[in-house]
Amino acid sequence: MAAEHPIVIVGSGLAGYNVAREFRKLNTSTELIIVADDAADFYSKPMLSNALAKNKMAQELVIADAEKMAFDLNAKVLKHTRINKIDPDNYSISTSDNELIEYSQLVLALGASAIQLPIAGNAADKLLVVNDLASYADFRNAIADKKKIAIIGAGLIGCEFANDLVLSDYNVFMLDLAELPLNRLLPEQAGEYLKTALAEQGVNWYLGQKTKQINFTESVFKIDLENGITFEVDVVLSAVGLRPNVQLAKEAGLEVNNGIVVNKNLATNKKGIFALGDCAEVEGLFLPYVMPLMNSARAIAKSLNGETTSVNFPAMPVMVKTPSCSVVVAPPANGIEGEWIIKQDENGVHAQYFDKDGKLHGFALVGKAVEDKQALTKELPAVLA
Ligand SMILES: Cc1cc2nc3c(=O)[nH]c(=O)nc-3n(C[C@H](O)[C@H](O)[C@H](O)COP(=O)(O)OP(=O)(O)OC[C@H]3O[C@@H](n4cnc5c(N)ncnc54)[C@H](O)[C@@H]3O)c2cc1C
Repeated sequence: MAAEHPIVIVGSGLAGYNVAREFRKLNTSTELIIVADDAADFYSKPMLSNALAKNKMAQELVIADAEKMAFDLNAKVLKHTRINKIDPDNYSISTSDNELIEYSQLVLALGASAIQLPIAGNAADKLLVVNDLASYADFRNAIADKKKIAIIGAGLIGCEFANDLVLSDYNVFMLDLAELPLNRLLPEQAGEYLKTALAEQGVNWYLGQKTKQINFTESVFKIDLENGITFEVDVVLSAVGLRPNVQLAKEAGLEVNNGIVVNKNLATNKKGIFALGDCAEVEGLFLPYVMPLMNSARAIAKSLNGETTSVNFPAMPVMVKTPSCSVVVAPPANGIEGEWIIKQDENGVHAQYFDKDGKLHGFALVGKAVEDKQALTKELPAVLA
């Protein structure tokens, strides 16, 4: 490794830019390069699923453009530049224009990509996904003079978009194989409560059913469900989940599982290469949320500055942005044996997950019950101590 080479960050999402920002708090002089295959504008991705009701277009979500970020961070920002090779032995990466960039230390903040559904019919390539500013701009254009929107996937992102769309007077049709929304995060009663609350706002649920095919003719999507139900919509948004971007790392011989495998120091198995955010799996944990990446960014920044630092994840409940029905959830860790104790009253659903010794390991609060978030969070064990 040549110490005189710059530190290079690949990715200009919240993960990449937060590493740069944290690093600059510690070190104002080391050369820093940020490379991204998008416009490298700084924005808060969570805003994408509640921008419609806030009447904000994609460009209005930009907090600072690439040039301002470069100036503020005293960094070189290479936008619209795709990295297609990492050479860990020679401490270099190559761009798709065959330019070689040498690094002293490399941070991979590559994010995750939307899973494409293999749906029968002629419309598979016309389903929209929203996972960045550019795709959000496309989505806003697509719904501009339209009324009926189908969303495939009633997970966190699907439910947030559903709420945002109904608040803006769209007709929303939610499809999922599962019987209830947020079924991987919420116990049944809490899912029922959310489903009812969003139905009262106008969301049409088609749950527990497989989509047989989707066909597109003359600007209309015809959706056929396996149970024989058929309906037509103007736009279909697919929100069935994200898959970490690991290909680049895999080809370079980095250890990859679900995400790019990193230890508690957020270091990969190749010297000088770190990873965080939606592309990374930290000690087996895949946590595609803002809080974990902020903690990771602070730890990596210290390591980049010469003080090897491990990350800690405290309990990090996730607020679901469904304003028609508040939801906050801190799912129990995988493999914790226990049971949900659930109370439901005029305040909503209050679910707590206890192990056999009576220790709290998770919770789900829906409706006014979210007020208990802070008190319960204090009782939870750390996600990664
Ligand atoms: C609609 C929506 C709502 C959300 N709401 C919440 C919420 O309320 N709370 C919460 O905690 N989390 C939320 N999340 C999740 C959260 O936003 C993400 O976890 C976070 O933004 C991921 O940031 P990232 O930097 O890891 O990835 P990204 O923002 O995806 O950034 C990846 C970057 O890598 C670049 N890149 C990838 N491959 C290459 C390559 N080969 N060469 C060059 N550049 C490359 C991309 O161009 C991009 O700049 C939400 C996500 C979505 C989609």
